[in-house]
Amino acid sequence: MIDLSLKFNKTHPIVIFFVFLILILSNTTTANFCIDNSENLVIKPQKINKKELIPIENKIVHIHANSFYDYGYKVGELILFNKTLNLFFRALVNHINKKNRTENLEIHKYAPFYNEMLNGFSDRLKITLNQALLLQDQISKSLNSEACTITLSTGPATKNNETFLSQNFDNDPLSSLIWFIGLSRIFYIAHIENYYSYSFIGIPIFLECRILNEKGLGWGGNWICLNKTRPVDTGKGMFIYELELRTMLGCSTVDEVEDLYRNTNRSSGRNTFPDFGPRQSDNAANGYCDSNGGILVMEQMHSYFIAQNETSTNVPGLEKLQLSNKLYHPPGILWHTNHHMWLDPMLTGSVLPKGYSSSELRANRCKELLENNYGDIDLKVIKNITKDHGKGFIANQPDSGDICRHSDKYGNGTTMFAWIVEPKKLTIHMTNGRPCCFPYKSYDFTDDFEEGESQISISQNLMKGKFLYETTLINSLLKNQVLPNNDFF
Ligand SMILES: [Zn+2]
Repeated sequence: MIDLSLKFNKTHPIVIFFVFLILILSNTTTANFCIDNSENLVIKPQKINKKELIPIENKIVHIHANSFYDYGYKVGELILFNKTLNLFFRALVNHINKKNRTENLEIHKYAPFYNEMLNGFSDRLKITLNQALLLQDQISKSLNSEACTITLSTGPATKNNETFLSQNFDNDPLSSLIWFIGLSRIFYIAHIENYYSYSFIGIPIFLECRILNEKGLGWGGNWICLNKTRPVDTGKGMFIYELELRTMLGCSTVDEVEDLYRNTNRSSGRNTFPDFGPRQSDNAANGYCDSNGGILVMEQMHSYFIAQNETSTNVPGLEKLQLSNKLYHPPGILWHTNHHMWLDPMLTGSVLPKGYSSSELRANRCKELLENNYGDIDLKVIKNITKDHGKGFIANQPDSGDICRHSDKYGNGTTMFAWIVEPKKLTIHMTNGRPCCFPYKSYDFTDDFEEGESQISISQNLMKGKFLYETTLINSLLKNQVLPNNDFF
């Protein structure tokens, strides 16, 4: 293989993007893997032909592991055997080689499951934990737009007592990494022994968008845009990226999710580089749906927490903003964009709605569309909401104030792709690009989750309460196993 290290030493991320675009569109760079947890790793690369790649199909990759360390180790294995990911990580490591991470993030304390994954990953690739964290910094930095829109609807709001969660996934269009993710669309299924299996897109360990677990718990989320001058509620606690992982591993209902968030000491603050890394989801407003018809959206910081569910009918934050005519909505619908709608922005540090017009426009449009279709909401209605250009900065034209965002003079954020979860059917509908241009495709994960058969009892004690997780035993046991002689760097 050609040594790409010299070429990438001072390369701008956009150049890296184009290199990977070429790789992804070539015939030999993407392969489908099956890794099981037998004693010998089974790697079954299957070539995907070019016709399948344009338009690019979603592939399913199963990762079976008997611990978090083992999961990280096998993700390292996957990267060694996947040319695209291998080159991508090599390029990133060359980019970070001259950097040093001096800050102690205490990930063993604030993100112990993630920490074990990262340990397994770095052991397999024979890099230091510091290098792995630098990789995380680079990957997290690619999420550079505080955007995204979610809607949730259930029960009486829907035509046939259904439940939907929609997510417009927005980012800066120049972000090489998200393009990379969008183009090499793969669904991963993580089967970690003793926990629920979950499906995600993105980059294993580093940028997992965990959308659905085997119990029908579905996820979507928004970043909260922070103001530049006022104080921001800041405190140490569990990284939200870790908390999101735990919901998928151990929760089957939105009530369990709410309990977990409410009772966990959470991390929040300004996530400026270099301490961004695994704190990439801190401050996020997360939405969940479940197969019982539950829906939930939470606004949370270190000191503040509020949850709205399928029975909520008011938007308390709007009262503070003196928009009393918009106070109430019928039960069974929720939505969220990028400012705190319910918590007091003067306490949390969120932007005010007027400080981020796109966020306010999208929130108001979600409310309008969900209420206008109340009682008749079905999959088609939700798909149309994700494609909407009806209001925004300019009516009936695509712009960055629409739910389906298009970059313009008002902002860079663009909807890269969108998904809709139907939790009762264990199904995700997803587009491979902007929802106004690319069709939705449906993926039923019922059979894929069965492959995991992770029906072993889940320790609720591990998932709830204050975190005191010191799970180093498995880690140290596994570290004694013989590592294959396959150097990465
Ligand atoms: Zn559009």
